[in-house]
Amino acid sequence: KVRVRFAPSPTGPLHLGGVRTALYDYLFAKNQGGEFVLRIEDTDTARYVEGAEEYIEEALEWCGIIPDESPKKGGKFAPYRQSERRDIYNRYTEQILKTDYAYIAFDTAEELDVIRAEYEAKGDVFSYDNKTRNRLRNSLSLSEEEVQKLLDEKTPYVVRFKMPIDRTLNLVDIIRGNSSVNTNTLDDKVLVKNDGMPTYHFANIIDDHEMEISHVIRGEEWLPSLGLHTLLYEAMAWEAPQFAHLSLILKPDVSTLINKDNIDSITKSFTDEFVTKNSQFSFDESAAIIKKFFSEVKSPRFKSMLGENDKDDEITASVKQFLKKGLSGKLSKRDGDKFGFPVFPLDFKDPATGNISKGYRENGYLPEAFINMSALLGWSPADDKEILSLDEMAKEFDLHKVHKAGARFSKEKSEWFNHQYIQLKSDEELLQILKNSDVDLTIDDEKLLKIIHLMKERATFPKDIYENGKFFFEAPVSYDEKASKKAWNDETSAVLGEFATTLESTEFTSETLKQAIHDFAENKGLGMGKVMMPLRLALVGELKGPDVPDILEIIGKQESIARINNAIN
Ligand code: GLU
Repeated sequence: KVRVRFAPSPTGPLHLGGVRTALYDYLFAKNQGGEFVLRIEDTDTARYVEGAEEYIEEALEWCGIIPDESPKKGGKFAPYRQSERRDIYNRYTEQILKTDYAYIAFDTAEELDVIRAEYEAKGDVFSYDNKTRNRLRNSLSLSEEEVQKLLDEKTPYVVRFKMPIDRTLNLVDIIRGNSSVNTNTLDDKVLVKNDGMPTYHFANIIDDHEMEISHVIRGEEWLPSLGLHTLLYEAMAWEAPQFAHLSLILKPDVSTLINKDNIDSITKSFTDEFVTKNSQFSFDESAAIIKKFFSEVKSPRFKSMLGENDKDDEITASVKQFLKKGLSGKLSKRDGDKFGFPVFPLDFKDPATGNISKGYRENGYLPEAFINMSALLGWSPADDKEILSLDEMAKEFDLHKVHKAGARFSKEKSEWFNHQYIQLKSDEELLQILKNSDVDLTIDDEKLLKIIHLMKERATFPKDIYENGKFFFEAPVSYDEKASKKAWNDETSAVLGEFATTLESTEFTSETLKQAIHDFAENKGLGMGKVMMPLRLALVGELKGPDVPDILEIIGKQESIARINNAIN
């Protein structure tokens, strides 16, 4: 039976990478007719963030990634919150201590610091491993009596994994294939902390075993732990699940993000961060240099400009270093704020700082678009189809087709997906979405539906329907200057005045209006444009929008004539 779990730690809001992991977990489980489990890994109380668990549940729900078992829903392996599973962990702590794979360590943080300093003084790096553990205070180096005495005195201790000496481990990963690691490169990780709580590693394999997880699909950052986890299964004499590690999501191409409208705000956020780290430089001076780079971001020279140059002064060299780091590699949670796109599914208010991280939901993304975009960051279906529902994705999902290389996030692409999904919505559905959003619409539904029908084609977000169609709701207060020059001449006022009169007796449907404009122009011996363009200007204020007869119909007779009269006087 295929059972897959998503096991986030409630240390903050779920981000794009987390959503994609959850999505692949879910898609694989559903593809295999298996179960998808949500488990909250909250043994690290120091990093616990209030509200994070609720956020994770709500975000998954918004995405439509619904667990079969979870803390909220329960299930046959409940509880699904690690902090509530202490008794289970205690049992297995006793069990592993009876094997040759674990030992008790009494050394305090201070003692470890002393030893670490000793190593560093010699230019070596200290690691608690099979070369150093004999020098430290633990049940491997002390006699049985000494250990018993310390335990009787209630000396605090941790349980550590005893990494075998010089063994080559073969690691198997569905996405990455086979690799190997020598145990001499791994250290003796803490399995149980001195408060009796297991660490991530131990709790994770216990729960995966107890919950009968068949496949562990998770982020690449856990690949270095695979050796330890493999040995933990061996130590417990359990069959290990199969593993698949997902590649990183990479930062978007910066040249697609910076434009003349946002260059100042992006410069500011980069400069803020730069001067916080490099307080010897002034804000203004740093900002000027950073802006100089960002102004060139679209030129092909940009990359080479960031290269080292002997003539660089100290501040330029530091800025280059900083930018090179900040513009490449893994998509970070802070990139959203810096560049102005969401990296979280929902808005999240940090309880410590009160800062709000922007979410896809609140920024007008449809959940279908968001998950479709996320799923294609690192996987492509067989025929390279791009628009797929969650069910279609589940039908086609194949772990073997997940890419090994990192997937580059693209803001444009995520907007493209949203645009596509808006086109797939019916006018009625979009009406509901608009009504549930915070735009203030005091116009009857029938009219709104017509506006939606006309405007959705150009909309990336639902609110664009309203914002690009403002002229439906309010008369123009001014007329675009360039457009006026183009559309208006000495005769225009007289022509439009006359046309307004004919409108009095015209039926206001787009069909008849179209005919009326046509007949009027023909009678006057004018080209269509000579009527259509100034008419559009009078109604909209600029030369934009859908077809003029459609605009006239929706605005209505009285208001249309009023707007024309306004423009010609
Ligand atoms: N709690 C870990 C995390 O937050 C889970 C890693 C895993 O899936 O094994 O990423």
